[in-house]
Amino acid sequence: MNDTPKRVALFGSTGSIGTSALDVLRHHRDRFTLVAIAARSRFELLVEQAREFRPPVAIITNPSSEQAVLEAQESLQADGIVTEFMIGEQALVDVAREAGYDIMLGAITGAAGLPANMEVVKRGKRLALANKESLVMTGPLLTRLARKSGAELLPVDSEHSAVWQCLRGERTSEVKRIILTASGGPFRQTPLDRLAHVTRDEALRHPTWTTMGKKITVDSATMMNKALEVIEARWLFDIEPERLDVVIHPQSIVHSMVEFRDGSVIAQLGPNDMRLPVQFALTYPERLETPAPTLELNQFASLTFETLEDRRFPAVRLGFQVARAGGTAGAVFNAANEIAVEAFLKGEIGYLDIVRTVEAVLGQHSVQGADTLDAVLDADRWAREQARKKIHR
Ligand code: NAD
Ligand code: MG
Repeated sequence: MNDTPKRVALFGSTGSIGTSALDVLRHHRDRFTLVAIAARSRFELLVEQAREFRPPVAIITNPSSEQAVLEAQESLQADGIVTEFMIGEQALVDVAREAGYDIMLGAITGAAGLPANMEVVKRGKRLALANKESLVMTGPLLTRLARKSGAELLPVDSEHSAVWQCLRGERTSEVKRIILTASGGPFRQTPLDRLAHVTRDEALRHPTWTTMGKKITVDSATMMNKALEVIEARWLFDIEPERLDVVIHPQSIVHSMVEFRDGSVIAQLGPNDMRLPVQFALTYPERLETPAPTLELNQFASLTFETLEDRRFPAVRLGFQVARAGGTAGAVFNAANEIAVEAFLKGEIGYLDIVRTVEAVLGQHSVQGADTLDAVLDADRWAREQARKKIHR
């Protein structure tokens, strides 16, 4: 094919999803051009990425010094590479609002990704969404804006990519339920009375998805990640929470399933490698060859499914509660979790305190409509404050 290359903006380029995405681009050089990259830290890696992919713009939101950024830009220029380096969070919004791109891959972690994602959606562009937190925060708002502008929200999260693929060519009116799979993380079989004592390092050792960033790895241990994904699915697929289910599948090979009213269940399977869902979002509606190893089903003696225990993973119940509540509940849930995870990573609270903190903050919140960004950001700020108070009490 002699299509003109797709112009990709990649925010969160130095992270786990970001580097997976660059590997996809590397593999399909003639299909894509990278027009912007962005990261908070790991500046050396960002510069290396600029050297390799020569995007016109590179954003660093939290550089060690402006001098270092200037020097990097000059050193690239000396080699004939014209990449303009921009500094600060506002640059994310400006570039999302003004740059020429066909698709933005939103791969920043947490609420920090929201302002830029909003701009992409307002412009009616295609947003490949890894940054689930922004959709959890603004589900009603972001989906409404997308309907208005014609923006497309394409899932990158492996479960949601799976559901999206299972739904291709199907009628949503015939869907009975969506079944999200969950690996169960490192504590699936830990005796319940030991959970109070599990350490940060144990929480950071995920059994099947080994290259993820720290925040989502902790979220996977508490299964806050699955709770966020329930809310994410609720908005992405416009489905009532009553028709969403979660099942534990420790091998992480079946990425999710859709059950139809005639009793058929369609599943999507694949190796646990994020390059697959990232690539599908980038190439949609086409499928191209993959740089990732392919699935060898005979390497799995069995694929198993287990019921989720509420006592072990109460986060998922909270996720359903939030999905039903709508409004500002998502923003509060997400913000309290971000603060609690940060505190856990710093050793300020224990593992069980993460979900406890979120539940307590949620319990104090009276849900409001979340129809404006201000309402969402107010709820986010309030929840962060409340969570910090609880942690430092
Ligand atoms: P990560 O920590 O490895 O990378 C995060 C990236 O975002 C880095 O490039 C970092 O510099 C950048 N970033 C963070 N804060 C920023 C800010 N304020 N301004 C600019 N850049 C900022 O995280 P990850 O594992 O790649 O996850 C990214 C997102 O994708 C998360 O929302 C996560 O939930 C989601 N996700 C990840 C996976 C996975 O397998 N890693 C799977 C599904 C969904
Ligand atoms: Mg996922």
